[in-house]
Amino acid sequence: MSSTTIRAMVTGGSGGIGAAICRRLGAVGHFVYVHANRGIAAAEAVAGEIVAAGGQAQAVGFDVTDADATRAAIDALLAHGPIQILVNNAGILDDAAFPGMSPEQWHRVIDVSLNGFYNVTQPLMLPMIRTRWGRIVNISSVTALIGNRGQVNYAAAKGALIAAAKTLSLEVATRGITVNAVAPGIISTSMSGTAFDSADISQLVPMKRAGSPEEVANLVAFLASDEATYITGQVISINGGMT
Ligand code: NDP
Repeated sequence: MSSTTIRAMVTGGSGGIGAAICRRLGAVGHFVYVHANRGIAAAEAVAGEIVAAGGQAQAVGFDVTDADATRAAIDALLAHGPIQILVNNAGILDDAAFPGMSPEQWHRVIDVSLNGFYNVTQPLMLPMIRTRWGRIVNISSVTALIGNRGQVNYAAAKGALIAAAKTLSLEVATRGITVNAVAPGIISTSMSGTAFDSADISQLVPMKRAGSPEEVANLVAFLASDEATYITGQVISINGGMT
């Protein structure tokens, strides 16, 4: 890693897990772009916390499903230099049993997680490659690995993020860039709050508790660090023992 400040971007930094990742990356000295779509005020609050703690951060807003808007926003950021840490964390749930899943439910979930991955990651690659150091972490889900009823759309999107990470890792393996996927189980955020109650958690999670966003952030920060130089193309679960 160069001695100059590394610039990081966390999509969905306005959400529960994304905000924790932003705080952690800010705390280790990176300049953090805290990304949001509708929650720009939340992203600004996270960026403000990082700055108040002595770090560097800025909120940025765009809809990752809007290819043109995403490209324009990223080009504007790249004008200030490469972004060398990218956490593809933006994601949504829109559950339905598959026979009743509407085309809109299918496309919306794929659009945010998978097309959002393309729209954000692709323009960042060449500038990152030129620096010969980079870290990309895709936030997948335990659902991609073991399935979950009502989430065929989400499982497909999150499984694709694992496959994309593995193949992209091969393309950039000699360039000092690692690409990994993290597969959280049930993590306490507003997203999981709508999907699981405490009885579900006791039944599904051997540790009988939800994980915290900070626990996920610790893993992501490790993968984004120089301590994880030889870890690439992997999917790493963080789920309290779910199999
Ligand atoms: P939140 O709902 O708290 O956060 C979701 C984030 O995604 C928000 O910041 C939101 O931005 C952003 N987002 C949604 N749609 C768009 C869009 N079109 N363009 C840009 N950003 C968008 O969820 P979590 O923090 O819980 O989840 C974060 C990630 O972790 C997700 O990918 C989720 O699938 C994954 N995950 C979560 C688990 C959990 O138990 N919580 C378990 C496994 C995986 P905004 O609010 O600003 O619109």
